[in-house]
Amino acid sequence: MTDTTRREVLGWLAGLGAAAGMGLLAPGRAAALTSVTALRGVTLVDATGTRSNATIVLADNKILAVGSCDLPLPRGSTVLDLAGKFVIPGLWDMHVHGAYSERITLPLCLVNGVTGIREMWGFPPLYELRERIARGEVFGPELVVGSSIIDGPHSTLPGAVIVSTPDEGRQAVRDAKTQGADFVKVYSYLDRATLTAIADECTRQDITFAGHCSNHVALGDASDLGQRTFEHMYGLPLATSTRETELRQAIRDLPLDPANSFAWFKQVLEFERQAAASHSRSKTVQLAKRLRRNGSALSPTMVAMRVYSSPADRFANDPRMKYMPAFYRDFWRDGLKNWAPVTPQEIRQQAEFFKRRMEQVAEMHSHGVEVLLGTDAGNPYVFSGFSVHDELELLVEAGLSPRAALKAGTRGAALTAGAKANLVVLDGNPLADIRNTQRIHAVLTRGRVLGPAERTKMLADVEKAAQEPFPTVQRACC
Ligand SMILES: [Zn+2]
Ligand SMILES: [Zn+2]
Repeated sequence: MTDTTRREVLGWLAGLGAAAGMGLLAPGRAAALTSVTALRGVTLVDATGTRSNATIVLADNKILAVGSCDLPLPRGSTVLDLAGKFVIPGLWDMHVHGAYSERITLPLCLVNGVTGIREMWGFPPLYELRERIARGEVFGPELVVGSSIIDGPHSTLPGAVIVSTPDEGRQAVRDAKTQGADFVKVYSYLDRATLTAIADECTRQDITFAGHCSNHVALGDASDLGQRTFEHMYGLPLATSTRETELRQAIRDLPLDPANSFAWFKQVLEFERQAAASHSRSKTVQLAKRLRRNGSALSPTMVAMRVYSSPADRFANDPRMKYMPAFYRDFWRDGLKNWAPVTPQEIRQQAEFFKRRMEQVAEMHSHGVEVLLGTDAGNPYVFSGFSVHDELELLVEAGLSPRAALKAGTRGAALTAGAKANLVVLDGNPLADIRNTQRIHAVLTRGRVLGPAERTKMLADVEKAAQEPFPTVQRACC
């Protein structure tokens, strides 16, 4: 967070030209913010620091200037006195499904201060939606959209692009690039040769790849191949276990019934649970070094993993269900049936496993590995927008500081001149209590201010939309 000089302010204003003076930041306006608005008296909190009693000046959908309360403002600026409020950068959910639900998912993100999302299962209409949002035709968060999910034979995922050879893997990467994906999404059943070919083709096509750590490839090896992010903590307990060699052999020896590949997946997860109980700190240090060197990040999606590790009915009565179409009641309940622990012993074991995985993420973070906030929204009882705040809480519970959690949730964004004016105004200090990110006063994005009245209306509209007939969900799972 650095101060803007008067000279810089004047330079920016010159760049704005004749824009100053147009109806500014009016709620309901979809047009770009072309006039100057200042938020005065706020405490700015971002990944780089804290600054109290500050002024932040916005124009043209950008932060124009950051300074103290006496920062000079151009004539005609709109000044919002927000003394006592806290401002953080707009939040990013780095693991989302269901962005296509324009009347539910997108507004739920925005009212919750989520101004950017990474959609983890892309298809052509989502690439179009990304462009429509960028052009201002649809009001929504910034979208980064993955490819179709690329997986190996025996995938548990109906609808995934299945590749059985390195050549097919390369072709899938080229197809993803042609269709307009921002990155390639890889999944759990890719073998080493195919993942290697995918990685190489990604380099040739100048596109990154991210997703699950394959059950057939060690996390450190996938990172060496260039995998950008690793979702759900999969592969982490195994890669940091003193029993890694023995457990990997057990996975190789595990028979796979093609008619029930989920059973195989679940048994691998059981090996991971055992691996978590034989954790090695020195292996963690070594793995962290590799991930850091390769620029790989963890997107642990703790909020989703908590649901999958809990008894099936634990979250079923969440009051936020009213924002979800009725379809989801059955869809989510049924989706959990194969996962949820049932016996008291299973429940205890899964709770312990979840806790250990959270600790391992915090440990990797303490060794300098980047952690990204992702929720896996669209999965059972993981709500677009809202669950970002649950994940922030879980990151802090795991052991990250509130500022580190905010950094994970904002992709490290700084409130600095030139940055996009995606801001969340809070009634409380998120560093004192991370739950204060839920006390939202206003969200600023795309030149609009979503104040208390507008946010209330948007939520009411979502509730109404949820009661209307809902088209069949095209994509919904991890
Ligand atoms: Zn997943
Ligand atoms: Zn997912």
